[in-house]
Amino acid sequence: MKEKFVYFFANGKAEGTAKMKDLLGGKGANLAEMTNLGVPVPPGFTISTDACRIYYSSKGKIPRQIISEVEKAMDKLERITKKGFGDSSNPLLVSVRSGAKFSMPGMMDTILNLGLNDKTVAGLAQKTKNKKFAYDSYRRFISMFGDVVFRIEKKEFESIFDNFKRRMKVKYDVELSTDVFVDLVDEYKILVKEKTEKTFPFDPSAQMVMAIESVFKSWNNVRAIYYRNKYNIPHDIGTAVNVQTMVFGNMGSNSATGVGFTRNPATGEKVFYGEYLTNAQGEDVVAGIRTPKPILELKKEMPKVYDRLFSITQRLEKHYRDMQDFEFTIEDGVLYMLQTRVGKRTAHSALKISVDMVQEKIISVDEAIQRIEPSQLNQLLHPVIDPKAVLNLVAKGLPASPGAAVGKIVFDPDKAVQISADGQDVLLVRRETSPDDIHGMGAAQGFLTATGGMTSHAAVVARQMGKPCVVGCESVYIDEEKGTMKIGNQFLKEGEYLTLSGTTGEIFLGKTQLIPPKITDEFNVFMSWVDKIKVLGVRANADIPKDAAVARSFGAEGIGLCRTEHMFFAEDRIPIVQKMIMANTRNEREKYLNILLPLQKEDFKGLYREMKGYPVTIRLLDPPLHEFLPKRESLMVEITKMELSDADPRMLENKRALLQRVEELHEFNPMLGLRGCRLGIMMPEITEMQARAIIMAACEVEKEGIKVIPEIMLPLIATEEEMQAQKRIVIDIADRTLKECNKKLKYLVGTMIEIPRAAIVADLIAKHAGFFSFGTNDLTQTTYGLSRDDAGKIIKFYLQRNKTCPNCLSLFGEEKECQKCGANVTEVKENILSFDPFVNVDQQGVGFLMEHAVKKGRNTNKNLKIGICGEHGGDPSTVTYCHNIGLDYVSCSPFRVPIAKLAAAQVALAEKKKKKHR
Ligand code: ADP
Ligand code: MG
Ligand code: MG
Repeated sequence: MKEKFVYFFANGKAEGTAKMKDLLGGKGANLAEMTNLGVPVPPGFTISTDACRIYYSSKGKIPRQIISEVEKAMDKLERITKKGFGDSSNPLLVSVRSGAKFSMPGMMDTILNLGLNDKTVAGLAQKTKNKKFAYDSYRRFISMFGDVVFRIEKKEFESIFDNFKRRMKVKYDVELSTDVFVDLVDEYKILVKEKTEKTFPFDPSAQMVMAIESVFKSWNNVRAIYYRNKYNIPHDIGTAVNVQTMVFGNMGSNSATGVGFTRNPATGEKVFYGEYLTNAQGEDVVAGIRTPKPILELKKEMPKVYDRLFSITQRLEKHYRDMQDFEFTIEDGVLYMLQTRVGKRTAHSALKISVDMVQEKIISVDEAIQRIEPSQLNQLLHPVIDPKAVLNLVAKGLPASPGAAVGKIVFDPDKAVQISADGQDVLLVRRETSPDDIHGMGAAQGFLTATGGMTSHAAVVARQMGKPCVVGCESVYIDEEKGTMKIGNQFLKEGEYLTLSGTTGEIFLGKTQLIPPKITDEFNVFMSWVDKIKVLGVRANADIPKDAAVARSFGAEGIGLCRTEHMFFAEDRIPIVQKMIMANTRNEREKYLNILLPLQKEDFKGLYREMKGYPVTIRLLDPPLHEFLPKRESLMVEITKMELSDADPRMLENKRALLQRVEELHEFNPMLGLRGCRLGIMMPEITEMQARAIIMAACEVEKEGIKVIPEIMLPLIATEEEMQAQKRIVIDIADRTLKECNKKLKYLVGTMIEIPRAAIVADLIAKHAGFFSFGTNDLTQTTYGLSRDDAGKIIKFYLQRNKTCPNCLSLFGEEKECQKCGANVTEVKENILSFDPFVNVDQQGVGFLMEHAVKKGRNTNKNLKIGICGEHGGDPSTVTYCHNIGLDYVSCSPFRVPIAKLAAAQVALAEKKKKKHR
């Protein structure tokens, strides 16, 4: 083992750089970079991620070589700081901090003030002439060490602390006297002894090794694993460990600790943004111990320090070319930087920052586009409270993450998961959240906390998840035991509804109507860049003019799918449709179709008007027939009843005839019955009516001066002959209608590719088709032989088999025993599916058919336009795939149009880059 494991940083010179995140983790690499930049960083060293990986591969032992490198580094640190590790008159204290390549806020562990024991604490007290500070540091050390190394729950230390505060009748930690801190240290040590049956380790070197090992171990704690799963971070990269000289924000009123951002992480505004607490240490600011002060206060309290902090962080932003999230500590008037990283932000803020930074000439347009995660745009499209709603304001907190949320209140993260799994919206209400709550936060619509500031855990996580959040709402008191809360002067039980606005911080009683969001200037600028770069067209699926209008406002370039059956289901039409379907003769059927014709025509006119010259793809009727028919069973019951009472014989006769017709049309498997084009082939007059309505509407709207491009789409085609037969009818009617209207108009007739056979014989079908549109919902169902409506349970199991109890099929977490039936669940199985094929296109199977159809189709028809109109059309990974296999457009729900566009622009940029490298 010749490698180097320890990388030093001190006094303007570091062995690492920002580029070395793989090896030093994000925190370590940035500490090195800041040191090299001449930023005041307390000296220290980073133990590389290599060491962590070796620790795991050598069955949880730290090799001797690594220990000796650490010892050497500590000697060097002693020389630089002129302090001694374990020296009872001038003790060197350090922090031991985890830090992986990807920032995992609060997921792993940090220990501060390491090196303290009964002797060194006395030395520290004497040297600083501040006994209270020394013992405050010591009690913090014992509790952090106890938590991280001995796994004694934080709660246990906190409850001792709270008891002291209660006994002393004080609210805040800083109000306690020196004696109390001395007593606290004793009680903490007793707690450790009780829990571990060992005395608290005295020797600083032993403390150090235990701490390093615990940091390595924390890489695999439950919440870190959960976080990595959620954000797709590999599990085998390990964490680095940073050992750094302590600086103290808890030395009195001239000391402080704080966190901040170079721009507002919620809105993106270019304002210096942060919070701090005087006389505090480490995580106090984010943990909600006291309500922190806004950074502008610092300008008044310590103007020089504020100026220094401002200029350093501005410099860091320029250097990293992105918004920074930083930590600092002020020790007796002297500023130290402890961390900087690219700050997490809401989508709203990400967008504003990207656009601003292009305008400030810090980054290029291409970079701006690549910086936004397509699915993040979802957040921008978050609902707000309907301005017309009658609101009952109960309380106000800090607006930590924008958007409005409505849900049933729950106080427990597990319960949030449970209730939301039943399909109900929940709001997670907590005193404050911690990394242990992360699963509950994932399940909730929004969060409300009683304590904490804008940089508290709840706030940071909310912005990242894009969920509305209100923090520091001081009028909230939760009684978890009773399952109740008081908010303002209202008492609420768990399960009652609240509405919150993360934009204003307001909380309202009850369930409130939400409406879709407004679009900002930055959004429009950004999307105009996206539009220039992307190659793929992006259309929307919309059945009615209102949806088409939303689609246009989000920038849809046409309608990729209008499902006409939705127009047939309208309440006033259903009886006519029913009679039409039930009609025994063509003549009779046409009578009803003639009533439907003008109604359909008006529907189409509405769509054309909204789309103003963009293509509108209209799919001919494709309902499973049973959705239109009266229920067979209820007809039978009715007839029996009529037979028993002496009902009018003519009415009885009618009912019997009806039942007979229903029997004739009855299908055992309607989803695989007279669907799609099959209906139009057996009852061509339906196709005729629809074709006429589509073309008549087009002629009439063109007369209004609006250009129309109708694309008539035949559903569920499986054979060339079906295509030909239906197309003939459509063209015949369309051309005749055009002649009647005395108009020339270009229109296309194409088909959905939604059953495997169609994809397989695509070359034959393409000869007659103006376009293909992959109906990936049906194509996925038929390729898997799995109906989407029934698939839920199966797919869920397939996706989570490794977390499903083999005995009772309920889900378990990280436990070894099923919480429900007690079965042993140590045998973990592989999942059957790694993704849901109804969410992301299955490239291996369904994609095989798609690629085949694209190739074959274009072979026989090089002008074939090809798109996708399944639910998948708005999924970024599917969009990327569609670009790569050469589709012309995707079509998705109106709200996902911007997401699809961004994904399309990003894949176009990636392609450009690849070509350049070739
Ligand atoms: P996280 O990765 O969860 O942010 P950190 O390792 O950054 O954890 O540390 C937790 C807290 O301790 C932070 O507030 C940090 O600023 C503070 N801290 C870490 N090292 C030191 C140190 N050497 N001196 C003073 N404060 C420190
Ligand atoms: Mg930190
Ligand atoms: Mg279909």
